[in-house]
Amino acid sequence: MDWPEFVRATARLGVPLSSHQEARLREYTQRLLAANRRVNLTALRDESALLQRYLLDSLALLPVMAQTLGCSVEALRARSLRGIDVGSGGGAPGIPLAIAWPALRMTLVEATAKKARFLQEVTQSLELPVPVLSQRAEEVAHQPAHRERYDLVTARAVAALPALVELTLPFLRVGGWAFFPKGERAGEETQAALAAIQILGGEEVQKVPYPGSDAGAIVVIRKVATTPERYPRRPGVPTRRPLLRGTRKGEPEG
Ligand code: SAM
Repeated sequence: MDWPEFVRATARLGVPLSSHQEARLREYTQRLLAANRRVNLTALRDESALLQRYLLDSLALLPVMAQTLGCSVEALRARSLRGIDVGSGGGAPGIPLAIAWPALRMTLVEATAKKARFLQEVTQSLELPVPVLSQRAEEVAHQPAHRERYDLVTARAVAALPALVELTLPFLRVGGWAFFPKGERAGEETQAALAAIQILGGEEVQKVPYPGSDAGAIVVIRKVATTPERYPRRPGVPTRRPLLRGTRKGEPEG
């Protein structure tokens, strides 16, 4: 995929870009490709793959978010919602979303210091008002400034769904929404995560086909109740011992 094809594909998705947004996405891509030679930010090494599978896949969340919130993409892009992207790595999907939706108040969480440093440098050079937290989600989610403060949470390629919901749902206010791009195992992962989703205050799991692609789905979860204070458990525990079916609500864990 080259730039003209990418721009046409964003328009087909219903996410037209201004020339300023396009320039920012270009600069982001160049910086990501350059930094990827030093730090392993993404396995995608060439521009074509980055455009298709990093930028476009990130922007494909926008129509799904708009549909979920019951508005057009244009109306969504005018709304000043609070979003948090957990395990951003090189910035997907948080940075493309922040570029294409400037009213979104996005925060990035990334545990690996070298990756967080790249995110800090790139957000600064792109003049994106996007704070980068170089910490683990398990710690940030217990901080009052971040706990249950967000309207939207995203996370891509961070963990299997039973662990991922523990790392992310605590950030959402009641009424907020989680959006997780997932591969072909979306259905299986969702089944395995149903108990965890309920324990953490989520419901209404939907699997929305990935716009513009035949594989994968975006798993969408709504937060309907406050997350019990003890979640997420200590760093590493959510992935090591995910909340699976049969975990009792009052059981001491972690
Ligand atoms: N989201 C990016 C993408 O789609 O390319 C990065 C995916 S990378 C495979 C997973 C990232 O999640 C890594 O950068 C890792 O450091 C980060 N991560 C994993 N567990 C985390 C946690 N508990 N808190 C914060 N970041 C985490």
